[in-house]
Amino acid sequence: MTDRPCPICGKPAKAEARPFCSRRCASIDLQRWLSGAYAVPAAEDESAARADELGEASDPDAAARRRER
Ligand SMILES: [Zn+2]
Repeated sequence: MTDRPCPICGKPAKAEARPFCSRRCASIDLQRWLSGAYAVPAAEDESAARADELGEASDPDAAARRRER
């Protein structure tokens, strides 16, 4: 295995916190990842769910057919 530098600060990674150099950098990366994950798909999910609801309400046969499968 090759030693890769910490993606947050560029210092050599330590085995106990790989791929980061420390737990501090690991939590920084986690927070970045979470804020990105929350920012992107929230609005998309909501509109998709709403469209699905409307589709079943306006076409009850389609909903019944889907349940039979
Ligand atoms: Zn680091």
